[in-house]
Amino acid sequence: MSQPLNCDDLKFSLHPSVQDTKIYKRYYRDGRWEAGQIVPFQNFSLSPAANILNYGQGIFEGLKAYYSSRGKVVLFRPEMNARRFYVSAERLAIPPIPPEQFVEAVKATVLANLDFIPQSTDGRCSMYLRPVCIATEPQLGVNAAQEYLFYIFGSPVGPYFHKDPVVRLLVTDVHRAAPRGTGDVKAVCNYAVTMRPKREAKAKGFNDALYLDPVHNRYIEEAGAANVFVLLKNDVLVTPNLGAILPGITRDSIITLARDQFGLQVQEREVSIEEVLFESKEVFLTGTAAIVASVSEIGWKDEVYSVNRNDYALARQLYQKLTGIQLQKEPDPYHWVVELT
Ligand code: PLP
Repeated sequence: MSQPLNCDDLKFSLHPSVQDTKIYKRYYRDGRWEAGQIVPFQNFSLSPAANILNYGQGIFEGLKAYYSSRGKVVLFRPEMNARRFYVSAERLAIPPIPPEQFVEAVKATVLANLDFIPQSTDGRCSMYLRPVCIATEPQLGVNAAQEYLFYIFGSPVGPYFHKDPVVRLLVTDVHRAAPRGTGDVKAVCNYAVTMRPKREAKAKGFNDALYLDPVHNRYIEEAGAANVFVLLKNDVLVTPNLGAILPGITRDSIITLARDQFGLQVQEREVSIEEVLFESKEVFLTGTAAIVASVSEIGWKDEVYSVNRNDYALARQLYQKLTGIQLQKEPDPYHWVVELT
């Protein structure tokens, strides 16, 4: 690549330079995973009857490779993505990739694309890696496929909430996941239903939709691509329990940091929308892309409620602590950061 990537110009979107990157590719055929290979970024040819196109048998992951403040290219807890990918595969009857092979594939992809990692050491910009596994076998009946393609591509990206580090959420009546469905894995089908609520939220001036549980339509679940935390007025930090939501790696990291480093009581439990609106002093989102993003207002039933009664203080401290570890500015007591260079 000719020009170094300037972090200030990057948004969280597919960067045109992705055309010049390398991808990792590995096929499942004849009952086994073949050897993986690094190849130039390329289009795939798929049968119109490919299972993924008709029935959505596919899964994905999202993680970042970035420069730490020590000038090293690092990953953050990639083994967690590997394990989640494994669980997602099992849930969708896809032959799972052993976690250590997933991590090796991610590392190989990063090392083949070092030129595409933005030179920012403040955590705002990175190379976003997208491991995907799709069912490629053509078929007409609804059955698990016999052929799959596992691939990883990476794109330089900027911050997820580019212009608005503080976000506004609109509660939607659409439910993204049913209990005992696929809400707790990263299945491609989970995201299709979120397109319309997100578009509606944006049309009304919000950044994203906030989902409620499908049984009572009352307990918060998560935003489109981030988990939710609520600091209550009594200083207990609550977050929806696992079950139908995606077990976020940032969520897990924030729970650990809030307990260990800030001495907070953290509860994973049902959190009603009324509790969020009327009993909270701070609300924030967590995710690989969003990192820790404060929520200023929430729209619910034609009203807009301010949920910032704490000047975003906890979110700011947790953001500093998490990115401090991620960027190797602070000690990493949990061995979360994996150096590649
Ligand atoms: N919830 C959903 C639906 C997501 O897509 C994501 C992002 O992957 C998250 C939560 C946050 O998960 P993580 O912290 O692992 O990025």
